[in-house]
Amino acid sequence: MEAFVRHCRLCNESIESSPFTMCTTCLYESEQVRQFISKHPLVSIEEISRATNIPFQKVEQMAELGLNHKYKV
Ligand SMILES: [Zn+2]
Repeated sequence: MEAFVRHCRLCNESIESSPFTMCTTCLYESEQVRQFISKHPLVSIEEISRATNIPFQKVEQMAELGLNHKYKV
């Protein structure tokens, strides 16, 4: 029986069946972003990207998916 293949909602990598909708990398990165924002509310995507070393586009994507606060753009 073939396992249902899911894709990470952020990077679109296929992921093992898990209760999450993101791969472990993206889960980790989105958690970093979340923590950064909780310490620095209302930062811009650029600042988040610089502080967390996560590509700008990816942080932007997280914002679009509504994973975090409203970003100051
Ligand atoms: Zn991913």
